[in-house]
Amino acid sequence: MLFKEKELSGWGNYPKVKTKLLKPRYVEEVRQILKYKNNVARGLGRSYGDQSVNEDHFTTDLSALNHFISFDAEKGILECEAGVCLADIISTFAPKGWFPLITPGTKFVTIGGAIANDIHGKAHHVDGSFSSCVLEFKILLADGSLLTASRKENPDLFWANFGGLGLLGFIISAKIKLRKIETTYFITKSIKISNIEEMLDAFDQYDQQYQYSVAWIDPLAKGKSLGKGVLSLGNHATVAQLSPAKQKSPLKISSPAKLTLPFFLPDFSLNKYTVSVLNKAIEIVQSQNGSITHYESFFYPLDAIHYWNRGYGKRGFIQYQFVIPPVNGSYNITRILTKIASSGCVPFLNVLKKLGKAQTEMLSFPMEGYTFAIDFPVTKNLPSLIRDLDEMVLHMQGRIYLGKDAMLDEKTFRAMYPNFEKWLAVKQKYDPTNFFSSNIARRLGLKAKKDENKLVIH
Ligand SMILES: Cc1cc2nc3c(=O)[nH]c(=O)nc-3n(C[C@H](O)[C@H](O)[C@H](O)COP(=O)(O)OP(=O)(O)OC[C@H]3O[C@@H](n4cnc5c(N)ncnc54)[C@H](O)[C@@H]3O)c2cc1C
Repeated sequence: MLFKEKELSGWGNYPKVKTKLLKPRYVEEVRQILKYKNNVARGLGRSYGDQSVNEDHFTTDLSALNHFISFDAEKGILECEAGVCLADIISTFAPKGWFPLITPGTKFVTIGGAIANDIHGKAHHVDGSFSSCVLEFKILLADGSLLTASRKENPDLFWANFGGLGLLGFIISAKIKLRKIETTYFITKSIKISNIEEMLDAFDQYDQQYQYSVAWIDPLAKGKSLGKGVLSLGNHATVAQLSPAKQKSPLKISSPAKLTLPFFLPDFSLNKYTVSVLNKAIEIVQSQNGSITHYESFFYPLDAIHYWNRGYGKRGFIQYQFVIPPVNGSYNITRILTKIASSGCVPFLNVLKKLGKAQTEMLSFPMEGYTFAIDFPVTKNLPSLIRDLDEMVLHMQGRIYLGKDAMLDEKTFRAMYPNFEKWLAVKQKYDPTNFFSSNIARRLGLKAKKDENKLVIH
């Protein structure tokens, strides 16, 4: 198996690094790759930062391992290879009445990537994170052994992989539980909200009535309007709730997106003016969300344009996502948004969600509280703003989503994730030679203690 020298980045196009890229097609080819030490798996590269890149070393694209293995149509249990993506699952199983149990804001994520970042959706407070739907997975370790990990078998390896950033082994396949659905539509409601306090109250008020909730927040609003935006709510629709026209095809799936952003927009095209025009447009679209909405526009509005990330220009962007506990929520969010407003860095898009209780205790991100995701184009002043924000989030007893991060430092990471040592013990046990590494692993010190003498057997 040969590698190609390639420049690669995450979805934010920052940082861009030179790597040696491998793309195995079968499990046997993945085994051959075990001769290439210092390696990290890659799915569809939808992590925003440096999670699936490995500068000057090896990156293994596992997206060609994309076969379904078996499906239990009674229980909705799918066994598939780890390179299968949610879009494949939807197009095959939604017409049969099954949908991914947990989905993020894009359907172009692989099962391996979903496990490695323990992704969450708009219903975390009800459904939990991706670990909720994973029954077991098979993982190829650096020493060539293929282990099954589940809640009963190798449970330490199982839990450490949720949020484990691909640093323990190549996940080869997984058994996941799908959700039974009557239709591919949602009953939705959109509410315009005028400030952050009202927004958090509205989340609480509609918590019990709606399974899914997410808010778009105007990134340029200030003063009394700080935190103004639109709260979007939704529940799965039954056939009886659809119009007669839609009842003819209740499990309709969408056709592939037709629009592609063909090249990077010039850096000057993003400024306060364009941000304000674009967010006005989002506000109008969000508030007009009808009462019956198809899953494509409900879950995946950004998937409508391929490579929309090029809109941020060649310098790239980061998505800064943090979670803070619910106590003093509106006060703390106000402090963070005020800090951003006075920084001179232009936030592009703000999304707010409420998260339920944490389910795993190592490197998984979700914990009870409010999570904000904010896009920033990369500029000279951005690293110092991010450092300040990281400090504030830490003091608020919150943490940063490692699956999106590009700038956190090791010391702050350790303070935000006090259970990192438990994770390191699992790394020491299953990958003592640090066969698996990546840019984020080096940046955050995610490595076993040196054990160079340990023999690696393939
Ligand atoms: C538009 C958009 C919306 C998003 N919305 C959300 C959201 O709502 N919630 C959320 O949680 N996330 C969200 N994300 C982030 C995304 O869900 C995660 O980054 C996801 O992990 C990406 O999957 P991927 O297949 O592209 O993996 P990659 O980005 O390629 O890799 C992600 C990590 O998984 C590891 N990995 C990949 N495959 C394997 C494997 N087979 N074995 C071992 N490790 C592996 C990699 O090493 C890396 O550490 C969003 C991203 C985008 C672009």
